[in-house]
Amino acid sequence: MFDKRFRKTIREFSMLKAGDRIAIGLSGGKDSCALLQSMVQLKEKLPMELVAITINEGIKGYREKTLKTAKRECEKHGVEHVVLSFKEAAEMDLDEIVKTKKDGVPCSHCGVLRRYLLNKGSREAGANKLATGHNLDDVAQTVFMNIMRNEPARLARYLEPISQSSKFIRRIRPFMRTPEKEIAIYCMVNGIELDNMDCPYAGFAFRGQVRKILNETEEKYPGTKFRILNSFIEMEDALRAKYSVNAKLESCKSCGEPCSDEVCMFCKKVKVLK
Ligand SMILES: [Zn+2]
Repeated sequence: MFDKRFRKTIREFSMLKAGDRIAIGLSGGKDSCALLQSMVQLKEKLPMELVAITINEGIKGYREKTLKTAKRECEKHGVEHVVLSFKEAAEMDLDEIVKTKKDGVPCSHCGVLRRYLLNKGSREAGANKLATGHNLDDVAQTVFMNIMRNEPARLARYLEPISQSSKFIRRIRPFMRTPEKEIAIYCMVNGIELDNMDCPYAGFAFRGQVRKILNETEEKYPGTKFRILNSFIEMEDALRAKYSVNAKLESCKSCGEPCSDEVCMFCKKVKVLK
């Protein structure tokens, strides 16, 4: 059932083809470890190359443990492993960024830096696609959050960037139809040992509130998360069409990465934080 859904989702969105070189965003949590194992198994049938990328944000007491898990899983499956750190890229790790008390919650800083490094890191590792472990719960939460924040434009570019650039590595989410609970069970059954630690900054996030609402609603009305995902997929084309009209693509004047403004979000953020 688990594998069947994983493969069906890949086919539904034409996520993979033979000969792809896939970067796997490997945080060392349950979703990405399950994704790594599923991709390694799929590779037997669909010839492709895999490289795992872990971003070390520099979160004391948390990242060391998940980094160890990520390393162990890569060694277990013989997958090449690249580790990139905030400290190296932005000269500051997340703990230091949080201490600056500059505008924004930790997750918004972290999100910008992590997305940037994952895209750049995947490209530099020679990958043509970036697979992440986002599951059904994550996607349903994101859809809800963007509606609650009145940010439909973000929703429009969630599955793929609006502006096409060879510098943007296509993102794929083979677990987008898989409930979080099933991934936890998969890890247990397959003997993937995890620390089961939550990020110490997760409590700051709006996402936690949305997760709670969705879990309570799912409990009373089973299938809610699937219905949110399906509504989103149904609306996606229309959203993309609407927001692609004025979309422009530039290269960041500071770092050369693709962006929709003169300077990219990463460089803006790093400048504000310094
Ligand atoms: Zn930049």
